[in-house]
Amino acid sequence: MASIAVIGGGPKAAAIAAKADVLSRLSPHPVPQVTIYERTAFGAAWTGGNGYTDGLQPLCTLAERDLGFPYGRAYGTDVAEAMFARYSWQAFGVQAASGRAHYEQWVLHGRRPPAHLDFARYLDWAIRNSGAGHVHGTVTGLAHDATSHRWEVTWEDAIGRQHTDPHDAVVVTGSGPPVRPLAGAYDASNARNPRVFDGVTFWTDLDEIGRILAAEALDTRKVVLIGAGGTAAAIAHWFVRARIEVPVVIIGREPTLYARHPGYFEDRLFSDDAAWGALPAHVRDEFVRRLTTGVVWNYVLENLDGANLAYTCADAVAFRTLVGGAGLYPEVQIDIRPTVPDGAPPSTAIRPEDGAVFVDARGFDRWWFASLLPPALASHMATRPRQEAVMAAIDDALRLAAPFPAGLHVPMVASRQGPAANNLMALGWMSDRVLRAFVPPPTPLAGGGAVGTP
Ligand SMILES: Cc1cc2nc3c(=O)[nH]c(=O)nc-3n(C[C@H](O)[C@H](O)[C@H](O)COP(=O)(O)OP(=O)(O)OC[C@H]3O[C@@H](n4cnc5c(N)ncnc54)[C@H](O)[C@@H]3O)c2cc1C
Repeated sequence: MASIAVIGGGPKAAAIAAKADVLSRLSPHPVPQVTIYERTAFGAAWTGGNGYTDGLQPLCTLAERDLGFPYGRAYGTDVAEAMFARYSWQAFGVQAASGRAHYEQWVLHGRRPPAHLDFARYLDWAIRNSGAGHVHGTVTGLAHDATSHRWEVTWEDAIGRQHTDPHDAVVVTGSGPPVRPLAGAYDASNARNPRVFDGVTFWTDLDEIGRILAAEALDTRKVVLIGAGGTAAAIAHWFVRARIEVPVVIIGREPTLYARHPGYFEDRLFSDDAAWGALPAHVRDEFVRRLTTGVVWNYVLENLDGANLAYTCADAVAFRTLVGGAGLYPEVQIDIRPTVPDGAPPSTAIRPEDGAVFVDARGFDRWWFASLLPPALASHMATRPRQEAVMAAIDDALRLAAPFPAGLHVPMVASRQGPAANNLMALGWMSDRVLRAFVPPPTPLAGGGAVGTP
């Protein structure tokens, strides 16, 4: 039996494990064994205990966009029905004894998107029910053995011992760590400036942020967020929810916080392969950029209290620690400058922006998996043009193409194949794409349907 290693126990792992379980019951073809490598706990990025969120924020997407959505018939109706019966958000709600996910409560409360923590519970439930293998450890390396044609997954256990397991394919997941810090965020000895946080440490160090703000004089108690996307908006929203009356300044390269609304014309492209495939590549890239960069779900925007919130269009350049401050924490400024068109020389009109707390919320590095690969392979992703070439060559099973050895699935950078490759919009589509490399779908019918599982 073939085996797939999934690095990270989040929604992608849960969707793949669930679909593999259902296929193993209904498909006439052998289905690969799925093994999930997770360093913390299933759904860790959603619980609130590991950064990214406080766990209490709701998902921005509908609960019904669950592990099986869109319940397409690529593998036949019986597979879609079994996915819904066993792994849908509703199936989870029906078996939940109590709480906000409990089916009746969820309906009574208006079928709202779940809180991140409830979503994490759903992921944990699904993975455990799927029978997928679980390795509790941190993956530290991926290498391909040219003789066996298998991937060697090297991982470290809780007490630092190294292990290596062979697999036929690897799926890398995860939002990745925060993007490379701006100059001045860390000192020469690699110590983080105590006033500077990022999209992970903001959530893990909330108590410390409270202490910094409490120690600040009222007229200088200001929070500066760098980045105009979902991470910055979620953090601004946290101050509203926590009822902390503090001025918040968002610095972004876009003219303002753009809003993203749910709507048929945009949303259908996440699960309509034919419509997506008909678009020219540059139009697909434009769609993904517009919906993922510098844009905030309208639900979040509506809840931002404008009174304390300001927006500045600028490029953040570097943090500067001021000498001679008398307070508990060193005084810091962020240098900012006007944005310029791509390729133009940077503006020299630099000016400082003061703050008591700074959060670098420019997002996360989805290319983080390059650090797991041997340097010769990682070098193919070392620059922006190279990354673009790699993305353009990703195949329909969301795998890297040559010169990468076969079998490395990277949904987080596979949006050319479909805009749902790296989000929650159509996890059922994503899992079908990965598993089609192993379990052939039944022959498509003319007109877009599919015959039932043979
Ligand atoms: C807070 C937050 C909210 C979001 N909300 C939405 C939303 O509402 N709708 C939407 O469509 N998209 C949303 N996104 C974006 C997107 O859906 C997710 O980033 C993406 O789908 C994450 O799912 P995942 O399965 O790839 O990984 P994750 O859920 O990020 O899971 C990755 C897992 O990998 C583990 N891990 C990391 N490195 C290693 C390693 N070396 N070895 C072993 N384990 C490792 C981590 O512990 C983590 O549990 C959100 C992202 C975040 C961070």
